[in-house]
Amino acid sequence: MNLAKFPRVRLAHLATPLELMPRLSEHLGGPEIWIKRDDCTGLSTGGNKTRKLEFLMAEAQAQGADMVMTQGATQSNHARQTAAAAAKLGMDCHILLEDRTGYNFDNYKYSGNVLLDHLHGATMEHRGPDLDMNAEMEAVADKFRAEGRNVYTIPGGGSNATGALGYVNCAFEMLNQFVTMGLNVDHIVHATGSAGTQAGLITGLKAMNANIPLLGIGVRAPKPKQEENVFSLAVKTAEKLGCPGVVAREDVVANTDYVGPGYGMPGEDTLEAIDIFAKTEAILLDPVYSAKGGAGLIDLIRKGHFKKGERIVFLHTGGAIGLTGYTHCFDVPK
Ligand SMILES: *Cc1c(COP(=O)(O)O)cnc(C)c1O
Repeated sequence: MNLAKFPRVRLAHLATPLELMPRLSEHLGGPEIWIKRDDCTGLSTGGNKTRKLEFLMAEAQAQGADMVMTQGATQSNHARQTAAAAAKLGMDCHILLEDRTGYNFDNYKYSGNVLLDHLHGATMEHRGPDLDMNAEMEAVADKFRAEGRNVYTIPGGGSNATGALGYVNCAFEMLNQFVTMGLNVDHIVHATGSAGTQAGLITGLKAMNANIPLLGIGVRAPKPKQEENVFSLAVKTAEKLGCPGVVAREDVVANTDYVGPGYGMPGEDTLEAIDIFAKTEAILLDPVYSAKGGAGLIDLIRKGHFKKGERIVFLHTGGAIGLTGYTHCFDVPK
């Protein structure tokens, strides 16, 4: 298994910091909580998609693409990081945005990630909910191809075996930090959506025989479906890496109790997580992903699932720029 054999363009500021959160740990009164700062990957306000795009955009370049396409929800962090990567590499970018929430707030529709998509020069079109968005994207890509464009399409969230290599890389990076810093870590926790982050991490952890349990906190799908999505992508990622079979079905664990009202819609516990992280550690969580992960972390500590004497690493997957698309959720005094 040799990650260096895959084409890669450098887009992220790596290694991202691994930091103790002393005030959050004290506030919750349970385990020692550390944070892996993948919100600080650097590209256009950062986030987890940048690691995946290092491998995806290299593949696009190798295929001679002059245009990339992807799809996501209106406030997609993935779409924004793809638009930024394309701008940096001199490629055109076209995005399909799916209205999954029905929100009609101007900030939701035009601020946050959407504003950045526009600033990076991406063109956008919109779709209603409940369509097969990857199929919609391929249909549009074929129209561009008929006009002579060389289009590289990236699935939602950048989650295929190529993109997941970015999180195999993150697993190696974290294990190296644990050794260097002398940290014996009991659990790694993060938000899981399109599955590439968890699939890459579990493949990297198992390939290194690390034996650290990984918990994905779901943001959309029910548990059986989420775990199946992660597992099937981990199987493909392990094959691509040259270590087929390293991930067993039981290595893939998701908790989907913190989805709340639905994808992209924060619950009370989501907003509480944003509040606690912001006030104890000055860490900004986003309402769609990282704050649902944070809500799960907080609740599982309160319930005693994660205990005093243990050491947890919370992987911050980014997305805070999305807060400006969700001002309707916060009561700023007038
Ligand atoms: C996309 C995203 C996730 C989920 O990662 P997946 O690889 O899609 O499972 C988590 N947090 C943020 C901020 C994201 O943008």
